[in-house]
Amino acid sequence: MDHANRLSSIDVKRLNRLIIYRAILREDKVSRNDLAVSLGMSLPTVAQNVKELLDRGLIQEIGTMASTGGRKPSLIAPLAQARLALGLDITQNHISLAVVDLKGQILAHQRTQKKFVLSEDYFASVAARSSDFLATHLREPSALLGYGVAFPGIVSEDGLALLNSHMLNICEPQTIRPPFRIEAPTRLFNDAFAACLSENLDETPPANFFYLTLSNTVGGAQVINGKILKGANQRGGEVGHVSLFPDGKQCYCGGKGHYDSYGSALSLAAPAGGRLQDFFAQEAEGNAEFAAILDAYLKNLALLIVNLRMCLDCDIVLGGYVGGFLGPYLQRVRDAVSALDSFQDNADYVRLCRHKMESTAVGSALYFIDKFISEI
Ligand SMILES: [Zn+2]
Repeated sequence: MDHANRLSSIDVKRLNRLIIYRAILREDKVSRNDLAVSLGMSLPTVAQNVKELLDRGLIQEIGTMASTGGRKPSLIAPLAQARLALGLDITQNHISLAVVDLKGQILAHQRTQKKFVLSEDYFASVAARSSDFLATHLREPSALLGYGVAFPGIVSEDGLALLNSHMLNICEPQTIRPPFRIEAPTRLFNDAFAACLSENLDETPPANFFYLTLSNTVGGAQVINGKILKGANQRGGEVGHVSLFPDGKQCYCGGKGHYDSYGSALSLAAPAGGRLQDFFAQEAEGNAEFAAILDAYLKNLALLIVNLRMCLDCDIVLGGYVGGFLGPYLQRVRDAVSALDSFQDNADYVRLCRHKMESTAVGSALYFIDKFISEI
């Protein structure tokens, strides 16, 4: 009994520290007293945890705030760059890098053309480019929490091996362990899973949504009670290969009529010479051909969304490269979805992703940020 009580008091102490640290990270600056009031904790509890976080170099004291007399309370602020994490998104023809700080802010991102080749040379060159990119943002190597690497493919449960990727021509199940030469914990992710990590998973009440990645491949991830469901074979959420039109267009996986052939970012970027931003810019300027392409795209998207909604009964988040451009078209998507929904006359459950830029690279980095904070 004593033992159980002692354990639970340690758990409570740790939980308090986590709640206090998360609250400080949400603010630019805050007083101990305001923290105590807003979190419903005693001032000594807040003061003790603030001292520990100061000692660990994760927050700092800054100046004082105006007071109505007596002692002026000092303010504390997060040191967001005390730790950083690096995310890498590998696609067929590009790599994207992003550095993220403890507040989840993107310090820098970079997208460059690089054709994927399954070879030692490729991985060595990607690691070298990652190191160079990191060197311009990381002053203290020990501040790097981790290096997350996302692929358009299936990754082993332990996050150490790539099992297969039709997109990268790794079709037979294999166990490929890329030799990433970065001095930090490294983990591989499926690209849609990583993009999903860039959403707020630690909401109250716990998050429930399906994250749809509309990038050069289409994927997805389902979040139930703040946890991503991977499924028995790490393939949960692979909605790019849902068959919408039997005998329809050829899918890169070998099947036909799969949603990927209708919903990938490439189907919009290709008519504009390969650049998605050009497609949306010209559509907005009144290009009739692009308007018709987008209209068909949004109708097919609505069909997939309503099918997901019927199965899962949760919010549907539009992410990936296309998701970043859908703001002006969100109501059109909702109208098209609600026309197909037998149960309700609005589709407010369709929403846009939180990170519009490089969500896959950002999510790969945020995995390490969230892990560090939750273990504080
Ligand atoms: Zn397919």
